[in-house]
Parts: sequence; structure tokens; C-alpha cells
Amino acid sequence: MHEIHHLMDGQSVAGSSGRTSPVFNPATGHRTGSVSLASAEEVDAAVASAKVAFDEWRTVSVARRTSAMYAFRNLVAENTTEIARLLTAEHGKVHNDALGEVARGLENIEYACGLAQHLGGHHNESASTGVDVYTVRRPLGVVAGITPFNFPAMVPLWMLPNAVACGNTFVLKPSERDPSAPMFIAELFREAGFPPGVLNVVNGDKVAVDRLLEHPDVKAISFVGSTPIARHVYTTGTSHKKRVQALGGAKNHMVVLPDADIGLAADSAVSAAYGSAGERCMAISVVVAVGDVADPLVEAIKVRMEKLVIGDGSDPASDMGPLITREHRDRVAGYVGSAAEQGATVVVDGRGARFDGDGFFLGASLLDNVTPRMDAYTDEIFGPVLSVVRCGSYTEAVGLIAGNPWGNGAAIFTRDGGAARRFQTDAGAGMVGINVAIPVPVGYHSFGGWKDSLFGDTTMYGPEGIRFYTRPMVITSRWPDPATSSVDLGFPTHE
Ligand code: NAD
Repeated sequence: MHEIHHLMDGQSVAGSSGRTSPVFNPATGHRTGSVSLASAEEVDAAVASAKVAFDEWRTVSVARRTSAMYAFRNLVAENTTEIARLLTAEHGKVHNDALGEVARGLENIEYACGLAQHLGGHHNESASTGVDVYTVRRPLGVVAGITPFNFPAMVPLWMLPNAVACGNTFVLKPSERDPSAPMFIAELFREAGFPPGVLNVVNGDKVAVDRLLEHPDVKAISFVGSTPIARHVYTTGTSHKKRVQALGGAKNHMVVLPDADIGLAADSAVSAAYGSAGERCMAISVVVAVGDVADPLVEAIKVRMEKLVIGDGSDPASDMGPLITREHRDRVAGYVGSAAEQGATVVVDGRGARFDGDGFFLGASLLDNVTPRMDAYTDEIFGPVLSVVRCGSYTEAVGLIAGNPWGNGAAIFTRDGGAARRFQTDAGAGMVGINVAIPVPVGYHSFGGWKDSLFGDTTMYGPEGIRFYTRPMVITSRWPDPATSSVDLGFPTHE
């Protein structure tokens, strides 16, 4: 059985709380490991180590910080296959999805390699006679990241590179369900030459999270996870005077207008709804079919679903893997049943799919004639269930999105540039796709939704990440003209 410990001061440290949590391979249903769950005292030790490291790290030159970041980037790139293997083994996603996750994480390290540009302040010379004013951005101190199970490698990389590039030290609390990939990345970070304590990893659950939220030496919290926990993290963290960015859950809509390319829309809907078994915060969970596009679109999605191969993510033939736990699989399946009871049409029923072994598999489901009052619409399902809501008009479609409590992503499929452009104004979400179902921003833009998908006023990574992990200092300096000095320095006087 694989034991997963903490990483403190550059050393692997066995947990001392006496509490652990099981780790499974979701494709077999077998327990493969055990992860330590930190006590409040272990969190305190990690924060204390990061605080000591901060005193020196904040003074390290941009050149040295950049060089360590490049080394980290190269180590992650060289170890992509191994990271992807760990992701598949504990999360269950197929190998290609896992490779994509590492690639998106690498973008964030690459962005942080440009810290010399990102950290530049601004300068006003001679604001008054002999007076210059300049703004620089200073690090905050110890900052913490709390991350979800669904992107165990990428989401920590949304936070860590920018935070440490800005001169902060970082305490990571990964998801306890699939901690091996972030632990391996932390080892690579150490190998890249970052001093001990610049990154500490505490594995754990609510106990560790709550201690981080109240710890006086933690200056900022970056959180990604479900909306109820994001709300708790934001409320508790800010009440302890911390800067908090807390990204929550989602219910992403994809509007398909009658003039859309139906083949493109159906391909996109299938990969955006069922990729990673629907366990993506940017997954499409609602297709909003406008007017007479509904029948051919539902048929085109159904035809494509017949070709989906569901199996162990380490098998190259698989398109979709299992869900994260048995309980989550059963909860997701429950939404297909409740939708049927509430009047939806079950076009494809994933509950009927049969799999060998004890893995946490569920077939992909397609629900038609879903209405906004059904549980399948009101809740975040976070699994391979796609709902189709039929609307009479574009106005009705955007009204539906506006009425939904979440606002992470929204997409439109159309051939009409004017309609697409109008959607940019009406979309009601933080990330908008035009003929792109999953509009995750590249690493040099920033990621975050609106409404219940984001608590706080800063989105994550890219320029907003730099802003979140620094605070401005404005320096006003006066240097009298040397010609007026009482000591003759050899400067000509101005008559
Ligand atoms: P989760 O909220 O259960 O857990 C997230 C983190 O919070 C984990 O580290 C977990 O240990 C911790 N946690 C769990 N319960 C807690 C509690 N009661 N008190 C304090 N901490 C607690 O989320 P998850 O199931 O790991 O991830 C899936 C969710 O994350 C989905 O809702 C998904 O939409 C969301 N998500 C959002 C984004 C985004 O960018 N908006 C990205 C990825 C995932």
C-alpha cells in the first residue's frame, strides 16, 4: 500500500495525526494507497517553515527566481508521461486527457518564467521639483492553495508558479482523493532548486483547510472546489483578514442557434460533456437548442455517443474513464432517474451500460426536454450526464443562462457573426466561447467565472494572478539638485 506523506522544509514527513484517508484506483475500485490527514499542529509547522523561507526568498533576485522557474518548467515537461500516469491511476481520466492537463499546467509555469515583465511597476519622474514617484509590487508572505480532485496537477499549477515568482512562499493542500500527482510535482519543484520551505505540502481534509483559513501568518488563500466550500472558504478567510479568491462550481450552457454547423456542435457537445467523465468545471452540462435545431442536434449527439469507448483510462482505446468514487458515481446516476421521474426524455441511459470488475464506471447519458425546474438542471451533477433544454428563441436562451446561479463558462454555436458578437454582451458568464465549447483561457489571460462560480474579486492565473499575489507600494523620493548642496560636489550652479 502506497503511503502518501507531507512535504515540509524540502523533506517528506510522515503524518503524526493518526488520521489517514484511503486512495483508490477508480478503474479497478481497489484501494492503492493511504494519505495522511494533517492536524492543525502539522499545518502550523508547514506555515512556520514557509514563513522562515519567505524572509530570504522575497530578497532573491529576479534572475535567480526565473532560472529556478525555467528548471521547474523543464522538469515538468520531461516528466509529463509519469505525471499523466499518476493522474490516471488515482483520478481515472484517460491518458490523453491527463497529458492535456499537464500541458495546461505547463502554460502557467511558462507564464511565471516571464516574471521580470509581469512584476514591472511604473515610474513618474519629477512629479515635483526633485521628486520622483514609483510603484512597485511586493509579495504578501505565506500564501496557501487548496485544490479539488478533478485537476490535481493543473489547478496547483494555476497558483504555485505565479505565487512564488512574485516572491511569496506557498503551502499547498491538495485534494485527499488523488494526492500523488501534486506530491510528485512538489518533488520536481524541489529538484529545480527552489530553497526548502518555499513550497510545503500538507495533505488533509477540513481540519487542515480550516486551520489555514484562520492562521494569522497565512496572508492569502487561493481555493478551487465546489460552491458550498468556496463560500465557506471565502467567508472564513476574509473574516480572518486574508485576501481570498475562491472558485466554485458550475453549470455551463452551450447555446446552439438554428444556423449552427450541427456536426461541429455535436462533436463539441460530446467531447465537452463526457470528456473526463464530465468531471470538469468547464464541462458543458446543458445544451440549449434554439428552434428547429433541437431534433437533428439530439440525433447527431446520440449517434456520436454510440462510438464512445468507456474503460480504464490507461487503455489507449478508452475515450472516457470512471468517476472518482463509488458514492459519486451512484449520486450522478440518481440524476438520470430523477429527470425521468420529473418528465425528461432519457435519450441515452448510461445506467444500462455494463462493465467488468468493481471500477466506478457509469455510461454516458443524454436527457432531452429538460426544464429549469428539474434536479438535473438545478444541481451541478459533475458527471457524464448532458441535458438538452429546448428554447424558442435566442432571447429565451440567454434568459435561461442569466437566471442560473452559476456563471463559469457559456458558449454559442452559430454561423452568424452578428449573433456571436451579441452573445459576448449577453452571455452572463466569466468565460465565453464562440464555436468553442470549453473556453478555458490560455495561461497569459486569467481564469474565473461570475456569480456563484467565483467568490472574491480576482480571477486566477495570468495577469490577475500576479495582482492577487502582490500588493502595491508607492515610493515618493526627493533628491535635491546636487548644485544646491552645501558641499561643493563639482556640479555647475544654475544661475
Ligand atoms: P470540494 O469542494 O469537495 O473540495 C475542494 C477542496 O476543499 C479539497 O481540497 C477538499 O479537501 C476541501 N474540502 C472539502 N470539504 C471541505 C470542508 N467541509 N471544509 C473545508 N474544506 C473542505 O470539491 P471537489 O469535489 O474536490 O471538486 C469538484 C468541485 O470543484 C466541483 O464543484 C467543480 O465544479 C469545482 N471546480 C471548480 C473549478 C473552477 O475553476 N471554478 C475548477 C475545478 C473544479
